[in-house]
Amino acid sequence: MSRPGLGIVREVAPAFPRIIRFRGTDDAPGASCPHCGAEGRWIIRFTVEGPDGKPVDRAAMRGCVKLFPVSRIALEELRLRDKAEKYAKQGWSLNRGDTHALEQIEAFYAGTVTERAALAIVDSSKAANMLRARRGR
Ligand SMILES: [Zn+2]
Repeated sequence: MSRPGLGIVREVAPAFPRIIRFRGTDDAPGASCPHCGAEGRWIIRFTVEGPDGKPVDRAAMRGCVKLFPVSRIALEELRLRDKAEKYAKQGWSLNRGDTHALEQIEAFYAGTVTERAALAIVDSSKAANMLRARRGR
């Protein structure tokens, strides 16, 4: 006699697709998360790698975005754009190294520079910034 199944289908948690680019954040009080439906305010728009390799635009609340793996270049772009935004509020702009790094990231997304080459520029600008900070600018 075969044992009756428990009726549980082992659901393999679908791996979250990787975020390959952040598109922006919407301040939307009372909005619901496009990912889980929970109420939230900040909706982050981003692009993920689709199952067939094609990019797919998605959005989710900040807390849910943390569930997704993120490509390094997407994180670096986010970091530099946040920095630029913070600086702009002070009336400053990014220094030459960071500006160049951001340009290289844009060139990567435009398809004119490899990810590796863009990240190398990002790394050297980070290293230069660190040196400058250590010297007390
Ligand atoms: Zn959510």
